[in-house]
Amino acid sequence: MKQELAKFFDVPPEGYSSIELMLTEEEITLIEYMQDKKYTYEELLVLIQPRFDLDPKEFISQAYKRGVINKERRNDSIVYKSASLYTRLAYFAQYESDLWKSIAPKEREDLDRWYVKKYAEGAIPRLKEIENGSTNLIENAFFYTLDETLNLIDELKEEMYIVPCNCKSVALNCDKPKNVCILFEKDINSEWDRGWGEPISKEKAKEIVTMANKKGLMHTSESEKAICNCDGCCCYPIRASKMIGTQGIWPKKRYNILWEQDRCISCGICAKVCNFNAFNKEGAMISFEKEKCWGCTICKEHCPVSAITLIKLDK
Ligand code: SF4
Ligand code: SF4
Ligand code: SF4
Repeated sequence: MKQELAKFFDVPPEGYSSIELMLTEEEITLIEYMQDKKYTYEELLVLIQPRFDLDPKEFISQAYKRGVINKERRNDSIVYKSASLYTRLAYFAQYESDLWKSIAPKEREDLDRWYVKKYAEGAIPRLKEIENGSTNLIENAFFYTLDETLNLIDELKEEMYIVPCNCKSVALNCDKPKNVCILFEKDINSEWDRGWGEPISKEKAKEIVTMANKKGLMHTSESEKAICNCDGCCCYPIRASKMIGTQGIWPKKRYNILWEQDRCISCGICAKVCNFNAFNKEGAMISFEKEKCWGCTICKEHCPVSAITLIKLDK
């Protein structure tokens, strides 16, 4: 692994052995040439043209699509710079999943641990800003009930598109449905702007959310960029939140659970569906530990006898 690549593509030791699977030879050379400088499209063409025996426009378009380079706004124009392994890994796992799965499990697990740590580090200052009164919303800001998610879809003005969930694609910790990430952000560096995603109708979006709910996935959104259908074992926002101790804050808890024990038939579904072990089943005994509940609301949807109800919090 060349030092320039490690430095300018922010490759941690965990990624040294697999980086050459994630980048083409030409992409590695491009990163080494670009270093940490920014280039206009024309400057990038001049950099690429004499060096590579390939169509430079197509090369730039593919490098951007694959998360190898990023765009940045400079005044009214766009400049390009090297992305990082952090960006590239998600696209690699989402769209070249066979190659990602071909990497030895231990190396994948090490990269997964690095990824969630990096994600958590990036979230801390943004959460601090929110705590200090910023109105910027972090992704996956709130847990949403199924009805709220369906209403959000009805109210959305933006066109929606579907992409494979990058958390489940990278972490590979479960076999829950992956094609459940509904996005509506189309700005630079979004999946849409890079050339990914399939447009979906409101009806299709509702179908996906309802299916995800049946499979026990939790709905989260900040209502500005995405509607996510998350699990507890892969989802980086939830794992990062666990890591930095922001249960109840991110994603924000908006409901308490009221468990009516006398209605409960001890089926144990809530214990299976809860990602945080708030409900437990031992033999025929069901128990509920309020302090472990993140307020995701998914257990309520799955209880066959309505022994679980939601109490809206004033926040
Ligand atoms: S936040 Fe949720 S739906 Fe979105 S990519 Fe992660 S697990 Fe998937
Ligand atoms: S008990 Fe709380 S955390 Fe567990 S599924 Fe129900 S709402 Fe979610
Ligand atoms: S899902 Fe409902 S009925 Fe089944 S164990 Fe949980 S609370 Fe009881």
